[in-house]
Amino acid sequence: MPSRLEELCVKKGLKMTDQRRVISRVLSEATDHPDVEEVHRRASAIDPRISIATVYRTMRLFEEAHVIDRLDFGDGRARYEETRTDHHHHLIDVDSGEVIEFTNDEMERLKESIARELGYDLIGHRLELYGVPRKRRTDKSES
Ligand SMILES: [Zn+2]
Repeated sequence: MPSRLEELCVKKGLKMTDQRRVISRVLSEATDHPDVEEVHRRASAIDPRISIATVYRTMRLFEEAHVIDRLDFGDGRARYEETRTDHHHHLIDVDSGEVIEFTNDEMERLKESIARELGYDLIGHRLELYGVPRKRRTDKSES
């Protein structure tokens, strides 16, 4: 069965080779936000002939076709996720590198109104939050 991403690629008129199919499956099945090296690791576990250069090329192609999104989590490594219809943002735990996805209606309204107040129609935005876990105050030494 073709992956969701593969179907989207076909719909966009991309020629799908076996290797592109493997890479699209890896990206479709990812529940995290892998970088190119990680996608290569997973893809080459399925087909060891897939080179890192092929992964780079294919992901650039996918990005240009807007079937995947490139994300910047501030550590200099591009991360990727399948383009999704459900709009969401990311909070990056800078201690562990864990990425938490969230949505917030109030913030969505706020950015629209900021643009409007400045005399613009909003056509895009980027927002990542960076944080460290709040320390739980469970120790008794403070009482
Ligand atoms: Zn995400």
